[in-house]
Amino acid sequence: MAESAQRQADHDMAPADLRHETAASHAHDPPGDAALHRIVVVGGGAGGLELVTRLGDRLGRRSRAAVTLVECGRTHLWKPLLHGVAAGSLNPGEYEVDYLAQAHWHGFRYRFGEMIGLDRAKREVHLAATFDQEGRQITPPRSLGYDTLVIAIGSTTNDFGTPGVAEHAVPLETPGQAERFNRRLVNACLRAQTQEGPVRPGQLHIAIVGAGATGTELAAELYHTTREVVAYGLDRIDPQRDIRIVLIEAGKRILPGLPERISEATHRLLDEIGVEVRAGAMVTEVTADGVKLADGSFIPSELVVWAAGVKAPDVLRELDGLETNRINQPVVEQTLQTTRDSAVFALGDCAACPRPGQSTPVPPRAQAAHQQAGHMVRQIERRLRGKALQPYTYRDFGSLVSLGKWSTVGNLMGFLLGRSIFVEGLFARIMYQSLRMMHERALNGTVRAMLGVLARALAHRTGPPVKLH
Ligand SMILES: Cc1cc2nc3c(=O)[nH]c(=O)nc-3n(C[C@H](O)[C@H](O)[C@H](O)COP(=O)(O)OP(=O)(O)OC[C@H]3O[C@@H](n4cnc5c(N)ncnc54)[C@H](O)[C@@H]3O)c2cc1C
Repeated sequence: MAESAQRQADHDMAPADLRHETAASHAHDPPGDAALHRIVVVGGGAGGLELVTRLGDRLGRRSRAAVTLVECGRTHLWKPLLHGVAAGSLNPGEYEVDYLAQAHWHGFRYRFGEMIGLDRAKREVHLAATFDQEGRQITPPRSLGYDTLVIAIGSTTNDFGTPGVAEHAVPLETPGQAERFNRRLVNACLRAQTQEGPVRPGQLHIAIVGAGATGTELAAELYHTTREVVAYGLDRIDPQRDIRIVLIEAGKRILPGLPERISEATHRLLDEIGVEVRAGAMVTEVTADGVKLADGSFIPSELVVWAAGVKAPDVLRELDGLETNRINQPVVEQTLQTTRDSAVFALGDCAACPRPGQSTPVPPRAQAAHQQAGHMVRQIERRLRGKALQPYTYRDFGSLVSLGKWSTVGNLMGFLLGRSIFVEGLFARIMYQSLRMMHERALNGTVRAMLGVLARALAHRTGPPVKLH
């Protein structure tokens, strides 16, 4: 049978057939699962956590399926908040979601561990053992059986093989990395305040490599928070003289993925506030003291952030024969099923999902992960009822870039007008925050999401606006 015909036949399979295929691998499951369709979602990020929460509410609680989340973290923090954590303007504890509690409240199981392999014939996901900080084992190596598998493990930083990045630059992929950067930043300020001599060249300089949305937002936010930290009594530091933030971009302009008008408006604003922008500058090496460029120049810098591109995690490169592209993403059909196995789906940053009529796949954005999670909920319900799956179509609602306290700029797609509309200021800021609210509502419901906003607003009135330790 041709591959596509086989896939169509798989789409149309009845739930009983789906269970029958995999009866041999039920040995690893809790006793109550034997008769249930087992849905395993690997990765509880922007897409995966929304997916298991909704599947748990709709299917898990009603014993219509056994829904399991495999996740290598203990808590979830929505990734677009990471630059705020790195800059110290956001306390991660106020936004984190505890996986165990979320699973308990929403009818799914949480299995702590990292996916390291897959056996498609047996329909099992392999998890590595986990260890605590003293080296004691927490969970053993194990395998989990599935009838439907969804891979949603996001993306990691792509250093394109640039020497020195792994040793000297900080990526912004996890809350741990963002907090580590913030600690280094506050330590750098404390060191400069108490050292014998004056601040050395490059000492309080920050180089951000990559002027996509992440790098650009971080530059603006850092400009503000470094001044806030210094204002709390670090009087030997003169921010105007000593602190320098350089945003480096290999492309001709910053925000290369966004319309030119947004890029220009953002560049102007960064110029006005004093962030130095180096566009068309290719980094060839990162050293302990700074960043070397292809034109031979050197940017001295005590702190270097690498935000210059993403790829899917290496575990996906060879995942039991699934088709992948050059950045490790499993290639999926528009139904989000992987091309070589209709029981394995992928979504979010880690998936190469086609866009009809476009040469590039769906971009790695929180709004894409959110849309795909919503689509997947409906498709899994269809799959359980033995109905054919429907294709996912990406809807680009626009892009917004937050420039800290100064402004928010971006474009919104005006579907009625059929073109994108430039927005900035308060309206843009409200729209920017609405994306996060959509994620919080998907996880917590409207009432708890609103209570969260209120609680954070109160907390901010009683503490310093930046992290000082
Ligand atoms: C600093 C920053 C700012 C951003 N700002 C924006 C923005 O303003 N707007 C926007 O649209 N997008 C933004 N993005 C991109 C957006 O965050 C991602 O597109 C989105 O998070 C992708 O969702 P996801 O579910 O695919 O993956 P993630 O949200 O990355 O979740 C992946 C999850 O998988 C887990 N995991 C990874 N590997 C394994 C494994 N082997 N086994 C088990 N679990 C695993 C991880 O711990 C994580 O919880 C930003 C990204 C960053 C880093």
